Amino acid sequence: AAKSDTSSSYRLYDADIKDTRAERRALEGALRNAHDNGEFELFYQPILDLATNRMWGCEALVRWKHPSKGMISPLQFVPAAEESGLIGPIGDWILEDACATAMSWEQPLKVAVNLSPVQFRNRDVFASVKKALDISGMPAQRLVLEITESVKLTEEATATLKRLKALGVSIALDDFGTGYASMSYLRSFPFDKIKIDQSFVRSMLDSSDSRAIIKATIGLAKDLRMSTTAEGVETEEQLNALRLAGASQAQGYLIAKPMPREAIAAFIADAQKPQPRTRDEQEGVRA
Ligand code: C2E
Ligand code: MG
Ligand code: MG
Ligand code: MG
Repeated sequence: AAKSDTSSSYRLYDADIKDTRAERRALEGALRNAHDNGEFELFYQPILDLATNRMWGCEALVRWKHPSKGMISPLQFVPAAEESGLIGPIGDWILEDACATAMSWEQPLKVAVNLSPVQFRNRDVFASVKKALDISGMPAQRLVLEITESVKLTEEATATLKRLKALGVSIALDDFGTGYASMSYLRSFPFDKIKIDQSFVRSMLDSSDSRAIIKATIGLAKDLRMSTTAEGVETEEQLNALRLAGASQAQGYLIAKPMPREAIAAFIADAQKPQPRTRDEQEGVRA
């Protein structure tokens, strides 16, 4: 009896695994098709410079425009793309498309691109970045690469990041504060920028602990000669508090949501036009 129990629970377990594996395989096949059919699309979210109150740049965020299921979030397919290794070719396409798009903007703003840890492990990231810059003709100084603590800073990875910096590319540490080794990670590489995770920004007005962490992060970044971008800014109150705390840039729905290529081009062109400062000035013009 014991034996048959084991085998039946085995069978059950096995069936579950097969099911998940089959689903994963189907997703991977669909991802491969999606890449071949050009179903991936980059959206761009503006980043505001708090010192000048002007646009600083945009973050490129990938979406899967599925022919029947509609727009799919990166959170739903990037992990499968990583496991299957497809993030290599997809990541190369993301770099090339982001640089080409940024070159079409009316202003030479920065463009930030997210890199997966798998790109560091299985891919010559330096060659991919260099190729994207060469094809687009974009100056390296306009490119920011965002990595998270999930990139293991091996000697090889650190050497790659250093070569990228030598080229003029900036390196940002994304989702800061959510990892488990943030401090030692910061010590391992001279990042140009820290992106303060949106979980801290979301709770900053209600939680003095979150405020303390944000304040300390900005102070630490300054001492390390790094800039800071606060992510997930949704209210004027949060923006004002971040300004007071000395954050360099802000990004979030308050400023704008991620938008398609044509919309961001229009947004940038519009941001360049002189804006009427106050209602008085506006009325003055009319009078
Ligand atoms: P991330 O790099 O931290 O990107 C910020 C995420 O926060 C984006 O989600 C953005 O849409 C969202 N966000 C921005 N402002 C606000 C706000 O005010 N409120 C809220 N609630 N959310 C806001 P998204 O586009 O779904 O991307 C999720 C994650 O997927 C990214 O986090 C990044 O880790 C990954 N990802 C996105 N695009 C790429 C890519 O091209 N390559 C790789 N490897 N990963 C990507
Ligand atoms: Mg990011
Ligand atoms: Mg982030
Ligand atoms: Mg994130």
